[in-house]
Amino acid sequence: MADRAVKGNIPVRQFDTLVIGAGGAGLRAALQLSRAEASTAVLSKVFPTRSHTVAAQGGMNAALGNVREDRWIWHMYDTVKGSDYLADQDAVEYMCRAARRLVVELEHEGVPFSRTDQGFIYQRPFGGQSRDFGGDQAARTCAAADRTGHAILHTLYQQNILAGTYFFDEYLALDLIRDDSGCVLGAVAMEIATGNLVVIQAKATLIATGGAGRIFRTSTNAEINTGDGLGLVLRAGLPVEDMEFFQFHPTGIAGAGMLITEGVRGEGGYLVNSHGERFMERYAPHAKDLASRDVVSRAIVTEVREGRGCGPEGEHVLLRLDHLGEELINQRLPGIRESAKRFAKIDPVHQPIPVYPTSHFTMGGIPTNRFGEVVIGPDGADHNEAVPGLYAIGECACVSVHGANRLGGNSLLDILVFGRAAGNRIQDFLARNRYHRPLPRDAAESARMRLEKLDAPCPEGEAPGTLRRELQALLEQQFGVFRTPEEMESGLERLEALGPRIEAMDIGDRTSVFNTARVEALELQHMYLAGLATAYSAHARTESRGAHLRSDHPERDDREWLKHTLFYLEGRRLAYKPVRLQPLTVESFPPKERVY
Ligand SMILES: Cc1cc2nc3c(=O)[nH]c(=O)nc-3n(C[C@H](O)[C@H](O)[C@H](O)COP(=O)(O)OP(=O)(O)OC[C@H]3O[C@@H](n4cnc5c(N)ncnc54)[C@H](O)[C@@H]3O)c2cc1C
Repeated sequence: MADRAVKGNIPVRQFDTLVIGAGGAGLRAALQLSRAEASTAVLSKVFPTRSHTVAAQGGMNAALGNVREDRWIWHMYDTVKGSDYLADQDAVEYMCRAARRLVVELEHEGVPFSRTDQGFIYQRPFGGQSRDFGGDQAARTCAAADRTGHAILHTLYQQNILAGTYFFDEYLALDLIRDDSGCVLGAVAMEIATGNLVVIQAKATLIATGGAGRIFRTSTNAEINTGDGLGLVLRAGLPVEDMEFFQFHPTGIAGAGMLITEGVRGEGGYLVNSHGERFMERYAPHAKDLASRDVVSRAIVTEVREGRGCGPEGEHVLLRLDHLGEELINQRLPGIRESAKRFAKIDPVHQPIPVYPTSHFTMGGIPTNRFGEVVIGPDGADHNEAVPGLYAIGECACVSVHGANRLGGNSLLDILVFGRAAGNRIQDFLARNRYHRPLPRDAAESARMRLEKLDAPCPEGEAPGTLRRELQALLEQQFGVFRTPEEMESGLERLEALGPRIEAMDIGDRTSVFNTARVEALELQHMYLAGLATAYSAHARTESRGAHLRSDHPERDDREWLKHTLFYLEGRRLAYKPVRLQPLTVESFPPKERVY
């Protein structure tokens, strides 16, 4: 029970650490903190095991070498190349070196990985993986059949329960609390069941709210991936980084968007066009169907645009796995068979799956260093100044290990590696900051006023659902796989015009108990901010790099654009900072032409 309150009689709960988000990232960090006897609260807008990590299918990268010889430095090379050289190489080295330890740790926590005949953790090939710096295909992705994220999330949740982590299930974080000196002191949240506000005061606050893939209409992401963490920091006056880089996964079920994991191609599946041709051989002669995702997505869109698409309107290509045999599909890809039957109405044991690129992963996010600290700094310079008390990890953060294009299997790794790093750093911070800083009296006022405004009738206002669909369609059409200057310019105008309409929306339902219209409206406010960041950042970057492909600037331009974008809400300001090309202990991988 709360024993204090702030203005508006909003109750205050106190913890050492507040973790916002109960996906793999948040749970990994929380587990470590609870085990270190820091009082730790995890806040999640959905029941923790419904977080989107549960949907991760293919697996998690680590150079264990269980199937073929492998080394962490080859993994590092692939990740830097995959990122189109925009990743920070110190963070990439840190991640690839730590990978083995994190996978083994998960195994010991109880994750039921698939096994090789010798009993080792099974590893499958994934796109963009190579041995010996661009040589033959590696097999680096540790898998629990095609339900790896499910296995990891459930294991971490159970271990957290055992460790005594305190869960605020179905609470929506609305605002960060910052004092006059810029320290972050916790957050204001709304209990979804009642509509009541609560202030959660903490010495350290960790944002782990996942991706924003739902800002686009067709997406592999769940409806809950609305980029709330990005909205929280933007409203607190902090920037977001590299938001122009949104990954489109090549193989979403056409028309529906559900993911068909890259693991299918890793097991031997391949793409064909309407002539039955394996077209990837033309785009990536060496890696073929296992080129990196930006390359494969671009190839599919090109095939369709040039009239070699399949289906009644030539609007997709086909993914064949009927040659793999029922036994292998049931053993290694059972969830895929289920999804294809349910959403494409076909059985992939006998028929190919219709696929088309779909929004999938947010490469950009809250700027952090490799310790999970949120960092700021002067424009044009490296950012080394940590925002006191604020941390971010997982898909909402930009470390940056994914740069302009993420390799499949690197995200589960990212959330665990940096979950641990942030856990370490927060423990140090707690040791140095033993007492809570005083809360401002008006800590919850801005959130309270936002709710009050939403609850006030607005006769001319439109429904959140209508505005959300318009926002998603706009971003998909004007800031999707291919971007043209004309479309982006008119897209920015339309986006700005949408702002006042979102401000004036009418939620219709004004009841307090499980008011989903109110939740949807609050999420839409965050999505809008994430959409603005994406659109402004994309419009300004006049080159093509990784997932950002411009018709008017088809080449990568390292001279001008080997730098990270920062977007601030106020004045829609953009700033830039250099890419960290210097790894921790090894030689740098300088940018070169990317061929697969
Ligand atoms: C279909 C699919 C398949 C994938 N497969 C793979 C794979 O095989 N390998 C791989 O490496 N990666 C994969 N990825 C990517 C990877 O799964 C995600 O990037 C990763 O799981 C994100 O974890 P997270 O902890 O950052 O966020 P999430 O797991 O998304 O968790 C976010 C948490 O934040 C909470 N939250 C959000 N907003 C608020 C708010 N305002 N208030 C309170 N709580 C909030 C949510 O309730 C949730 O608990 C896949 C992604 C998708 C979509």
